[in-house]
Amino acid sequence: MKAIRVSEACNADEMRLEDIPVPEPKAGEALVRIEAAGVNFIDVYYRSGTYPGAYPMTLGMEAAGRVEKTGTGVTSVKPGDRVASISFTGSYAEYAVAPAEKLVPVPEGVSATQAAAVLLQGMTAHYLAHSTYPLRKGQACLVHAGAGGVGLLLCQMGRRIGARVFATAGSPEKVALARAAGAEVAIDYTKDDFVAAVKKGTDGRGVSVVYDSVGKTTFDGSLDCLEPRGTMVLFGQSSGSVPPIDPQILNKKGSLFLTRPTLFHYTATREELLERSSAVLDAVARRELDVKVFREIPLAEAAESHRLLEGRKTTGKIVLVP
Ligand code: NDP
Repeated sequence: MKAIRVSEACNADEMRLEDIPVPEPKAGEALVRIEAAGVNFIDVYYRSGTYPGAYPMTLGMEAAGRVEKTGTGVTSVKPGDRVASISFTGSYAEYAVAPAEKLVPVPEGVSATQAAAVLLQGMTAHYLAHSTYPLRKGQACLVHAGAGGVGLLLCQMGRRIGARVFATAGSPEKVALARAAGAEVAIDYTKDDFVAAVKKGTDGRGVSVVYDSVGKTTFDGSLDCLEPRGTMVLFGQSSGSVPPIDPQILNKKGSLFLTRPTLFHYTATREELLERSSAVLDAVARRELDVKVFREIPLAEAAESHRLLEGRKTTGKIVLVP
């Protein structure tokens, strides 16, 4: 089968399309024929070495498709079932395996492309808005990179809850998209001071929570956007890692809370995974959650997807098609 592989931490140009054997599902695993694979920033971190990878490796963890074969002891799925997962070992491929308990059903009315486009980012937006800091009606929040994959979904969810959503984005076009997704105030943070805009929009008080996936370039400003006892949710580092901080800063800036969550801890049990995935996929089926597929790219051209993502050229999701 064809798969996108890297032999070591490298730049996007070194991602190679290779022929490798179709993996064999072990006990408790299922083999899935991939119809669409989701491209996420975490794949960039593994490819580039920001996160340590077990090289050589096939990239990607998210995809949707049909179960081809199951290993021994699997009763939750059978060949032919439509499934999606964020736990594949190498989803940039024609086939991939995942633990059967990490597969979720794809409901009627949701295509493989939509499922691969929304599962990881949608469950992320869901746990951020409903579990890490459960937003309430009328509360103000700030979403950085509001026109990105997670960002567009988080703006929609915040708006649906009835929160006041402030968003940042990196160009006038992206600002318009964030606004269309539900941001009441959208700020081009490459030009304008987002701290001043947030303070102005909240009569000087600040927001209750900041959802910050940009990291290095926004972290300090994000703390300044918070109301006393507000919550800083750092959930990514698209611009680079945040350097170590002195906890005393949380005191000085208003008894703030800081958390650095990851989706895998918010979908750790089968029960929570199913609850969260069905909340997201059912909302897509009901047309309550709009999934913006920025581009569908042939598997062989996967390197382009990473160049676009790292180059801040995307809005919404890139999906790879084997
Ligand atoms: P996005 O679609 O949001 O793409 C990243 C965006 O970040 C860019 O489009 C860009 O938007 C913004 N950005 C700002 N500065 C930079 C920079 N220097 N280089 C590149 N991008 C920059 O990606 P995803 O939706 O896939 O992921 C968003 C973030 O959320 C990532 O950091 C990812 O790691 C994180 N994440 C964390 C999870 C968790 O559970 N902790 C789960 C899923 C994702 P703009 O031009 O508008 O600034």
